[in-house]
Amino acid sequence: MICINNVSKSFGKELVLQSVSCRIERYTPTVLLGPSGAGKSTLLRCINGLVTTDSGQITIDNVALPRHPQQLREFRKSIGMIFQQFNLIKRVSVIENVLCGRLGYTSIFQSLLTRFTNADYELACQYLDKVGLYDKRLQKAGQLSGGQQQRIAIARALMQRPKVLLADEPVASLDPKTSLVILDLLTKISEEEKISLVLTLHSVELALQYSKEIIGLNQGKIMARYNTNKTNAKELYSVYDQFEEVAN
Ligand code: ATP
Ligand code: MG
Repeated sequence: MICINNVSKSFGKELVLQSVSCRIERYTPTVLLGPSGAGKSTLLRCINGLVTTDSGQITIDNVALPRHPQQLREFRKSIGMIFQQFNLIKRVSVIENVLCGRLGYTSIFQSLLTRFTNADYELACQYLDKVGLYDKRLQKAGQLSGGQQQRIAIARALMQRPKVLLADEPVASLDPKTSLVILDLLTKISEEEKISLVLTLHSVELALQYSKEIIGLNQGKIMARYNTNKTNAKELYSVYDQFEEVAN
């Protein structure tokens, strides 16, 4: 379980997260929903320590996110991350990109200098098969379509054997049909591999379809929490306009 307790974060004078507290249950696909600038990506980045919080605490399965860089690097190996723009090394092969996941968060250069074991290669092939890209493993990543590149990113994240998978707008640059394929894959794999999936999405409908819990964020505050079996699109749209109403 991810436990976020009174987390605040400012960038300069802008208070981006304001005493955010919430729990994200294990194996319960959870979406952070809210308007642009609400702080969704910042909160996701706080969960894996890419952004350091100003105050408050984050724990994963009762272990607090370490502050010490070396310990944080170790801790982050158990947290996979997927981005809107895939963040692949486009000029190297699909399988090399996937292998890089074995290293967690290290520099690209270190990744390329590392010797991988046969077991690493076998695992990479296994995950490439899982995302349907085994046949393309020797092609350069940049030659593949957007949906295929996101599948490489998923296989790369799986190589970390993560407990938690954070996906920041994983389908924002994909067409509607490919978006469904990727979200199907993400939810299926996270269930099979017992990974807790936390996503940010801009689509209320996709959030309803693919998650069990939705956390509504607006202006750095948690506005509401919804169980997808007990809510509907109309109610979720209110996450976007609560502050506009106050402003008007
Ligand atoms: P979107 O839906 O557009 O992705 P978001 O909810 O993910 O929005 P964030 O990216 O978390 O929003 O940004 C929240 C606020 O924090 C924004 O005003 C943004 O400009 C600011 N911000 C985020 N990261 C930084 C940074 N590294 N430096 C300065 N300001 C930042
Ligand atoms: Mg964002």
